[in-house]
Amino acid sequence: MTGIDEGPAGWPAPGRGWREITPGVWRRRLPGWDETVGAVAGRDGLLLVDAGPSLAAGAELREQLAGGSRPPVRWLAVTHPHFDHLLGAGAFPEAELLAAAGAEPPWPAGAPAAVADGVALGLDRAEAARSGAALPAPHRLVTDALTLDLGRGRRATLTNLGPAHSGHDLVVKVTDPAGPPVVFCGDVVEESGEPQAGPDAAPARWPAALDRLLALGGERARYVPGHGAVVDAAFVRSQRAALARRFEVPDEPHRDAGT
Ligand SMILES: [Zn+2]
Repeated sequence: MTGIDEGPAGWPAPGRGWREITPGVWRRRLPGWDETVGAVAGRDGLLLVDAGPSLAAGAELREQLAGGSRPPVRWLAVTHPHFDHLLGAGAFPEAELLAAAGAEPPWPAGAPAAVADGVALGLDRAEAARSGAALPAPHRLVTDALTLDLGRGRRATLTNLGPAHSGHDLVVKVTDPAGPPVVFCGDVVEESGEPQAGPDAAPARWPAALDRLLALGGERARYVPGHGAVVDAAFVRSQRAALARRFEVPDEPHRDAGT
């Protein structure tokens, strides 16, 4: 299995539940709410994309990722501040925490909205409170795009797609000379069910955000939804069309694409 289970520096894959997408780029669908977390090997550290639904879940991810000879998680990119993607972040206090910039901070101290949502959706109340209390503020906010040089020709570009599934959705595109791009989409794309639109969603702007996502990833990319199996550009296009119909958005897909 050489080349399948090893990262660019010969690191083993993170272990149980993790699946390789391209060499050195992994994902795991977590039990419970089936949200996806991603891990990308860099020369001196790992980039984690989303942190799971609780401090306990984050601690389990941390333990898995610390196995073998892998370096520590150096960056943590949170795609959006919903509890199932955010509340594990306190388990990575030394990582640089990156999130999308918006009109408001991505989450206030303690993230009360995420904590309340987690409890409403079945997260243990004490665990939710503990997770919120441990949550750091973001260290860096991405207004437009930010590229991390991971070494060995691998880059991760974090892009603020603007309002869509949440107030401001962040996506992470990994490029590597050895394989096709991988785009971690957060919940702007969902495969295992219909995309969820809560009170902080911006349905009228969601199709245009998917146009920007497709322009970013291109035809060859593997698109990793926030929930469900890895998909291709054709799937994202069909989800865009379905969302435009569902929310009755006038079909002007290219008007603000690329801005
Ligand atoms: Zn979400």
